[in-house]
Amino acid sequence: HTLSEFLCTHMSKPDYLFINNQWQDAVSGKTFPTINPATGEVICQVAEADEADVDKAVKAAHNAFRLGSPWRRMDASHRGLLLNRLADAIERDSTYLAELETLDNGKPYAVAYTVDLPNVVKCLRYYAGWADKWEGKTIPIDGDYFCYTRHEPIGVCGQIIPWNFPLLMQAWKLGPALATGNTVVMKVAEQTPLTALYVASLIKEVGFPEGVVNILPGMGPSAGAAIAKHMDVDKVAFTGSTEVGHLIQQASGSSNLKKVTLELGGKSPNIILSDANMEDAVEQSHFALFFNQGQCCCAGSRTYVQADIYDEFVERSVERAKRRVVGNPFDLKTEQGPQVDQEQFNKILGYISSGKREGAKLMCGGGVAADRGYFIQPTVFGDVQDNMTIAREEIFGPVMQILKFKSLEEVVTRANDTKYGLAAAVFTKDIDKANYVSNGLRAGTVWINCYDVFGAQAPFGGYKASGNGRELGEYGLDNYTEVKTVRTKNQI
Ligand code: NAD
Ligand code: MG
Repeated sequence: HTLSEFLCTHMSKPDYLFINNQWQDAVSGKTFPTINPATGEVICQVAEADEADVDKAVKAAHNAFRLGSPWRRMDASHRGLLLNRLADAIERDSTYLAELETLDNGKPYAVAYTVDLPNVVKCLRYYAGWADKWEGKTIPIDGDYFCYTRHEPIGVCGQIIPWNFPLLMQAWKLGPALATGNTVVMKVAEQTPLTALYVASLIKEVGFPEGVVNILPGMGPSAGAAIAKHMDVDKVAFTGSTEVGHLIQQASGSSNLKKVTLELGGKSPNIILSDANMEDAVEQSHFALFFNQGQCCCAGSRTYVQADIYDEFVERSVERAKRRVVGNPFDLKTEQGPQVDQEQFNKILGYISSGKREGAKLMCGGGVAADRGYFIQPTVFGDVQDNMTIAREEIFGPVMQILKFKSLEEVVTRANDTKYGLAAAVFTKDIDKANYVSNGLRAGTVWINCYDVFGAQAPFGGYKASGNGRELGEYGLDNYTEVKTVRTKNQI
C-alpha cells in the first residue's frame, strides 16, 4: 500500500492524458481504475480517453507534422539524439519504472528490471542509431534523368498496444516511428496505463517538440476504435488479439485505407526431437510456455515431443512446473506473478476446464494459486490431441500442452495446421533435422535449441493470421516509411 502511495505521488500526474506535451483531463471528465493484479486493489484512477480526446490528439500530431514544423525541420541526427536521451532517462529511472510495471502488470520485479527495462533501452538506442542512416537509392532509369528515392515518414501514426509487456511494446512502437520522423497517437492498454504515462513525462523532459508523441489511456472499443477509423490517421500499428486485429483492418478499409500493421496471437509449436539434450529441452520448453505468466504472443504453447522420449519429457516437465515459484511479484525469488486481470484469469480457468472435459490428462496444477489476486497454478496437460480446444486456441496463461509425434514429416504438417504463424522452435543435435524442420515451418520466427531469444536488431512478426509486417530490425523501418521517387531531367 505504501508503495503504491509512493508511486502515485512520485509520478508527475499519472492520471492524465498526454496531448501536445500537456497533461489533460478527458473531455468527458471520465476516469477508470487501474488495478494491482497481485491484490485486486485499485492503484489509482486514470483519465479515460474517448473519441473527442483522440480527435484532440490527432490534431496535435497533425500539427506537429505540418510542413516546416520544428519536428519536420529537425535534423535526422537530432531525432536520433532525442531518442538516445529518452533511452538515457529511462535507464536512469529503471528501478522506478520496473516497480511501477510490476505494480500495474503483476510481472515479477526481477524480470521487469532485468529483462523488460534493459530491452526497452536497447530498442530505443538501436532505432536512435537508424535516424540518420535510413537511406534511399539513386537509380539508373533509361533516358537523361537523375532518379533517386527519399525515405519519408508516413505522417500521423496510431499505435494501439497491449498489457503483457507495456513498456517494451511502447518502445517497439515509438522507436521506428520516431526515428523515421513520424508523429504518434498511442493508446495504451486499459489494464496497464501507468508506465507509459511516466515515459510520457520523460518524452517531454528530453525535449521532443509538442504533439510529436501523444499518449492516451482508454478502452478499446471507444478510444482504440476512434484511432482505427480516424480520417487523419495515416497508419495504424496494433498488437493484441487476432479478433481485434480483424476490426482494425476493417476500420481501415471503411475509412481512409490507412496503412495497417498487426502483431497478433499465436499457437506456436515447440518441437522436441528424441536426440535433444533432455535437461535443456525441458528447461527451455518450460520457459517457452511459462515466461511472463504465459502471457506471450509467441509462447511455445504446443509442445510436440517425439514418442521415444515422451514419457520422460512429460515427467520432468511436470516436476519442473511443480517447482515453479508463484507468489508476490516483488519477492526476488518469485518466478510467476498473477495474471493481468480478472478477465484473463477467468478465461484461463475456462480453458483448463475445457482441457479436462475434452479428455486431456491434467498432470499438475489446474487451479487457483492464492486466495486473492489473479494467481493460477502452473498447469501441465499430457495426452493432448490436435483437435482439442487447448491445442487450437491461444490460452495466454500458465497452461502447458504436451503432444506426442513419431516422424519429422508428421510433426511439421501438424505444427503448420493452425491459422497462426508467429513463432516455432525445434530442439535437436542434428543440423539436418533442425534445417528440415525450420525450413518447413510457416512461422515468422524459428528458434533452434533456444526460445524467446530477441534482439532489437532482428525482425519479429507473423505469417498467416498472426499478423502483417515486421517489427524491430531494419525491416521494422519499412512500416513507418513512404518511399518517394524523384526524377530530374538533366538540362545540359
Ligand atoms: P485486445 O486485443 O482486446 O487488446 C489489445 C489492445 O487493443 C488494447 O489496447 C485494447 O484496449 C485495444 N482494443 C480492444 N478492442 C479494440 C477495438 N475494438 N478497437 C481498437 N482497439 C481495441 O486483447 P485483450 O482483450 O486484452 O486480451 C484478449 C486476448 O488477446 C488474450 O487472451 C490473448 O490471447 C490476446 N493478446 C495478445 C497479445 C499479443 O501480444 N499479441 C497481447 C494481449 C492479448
Ligand atoms: Mg479485448
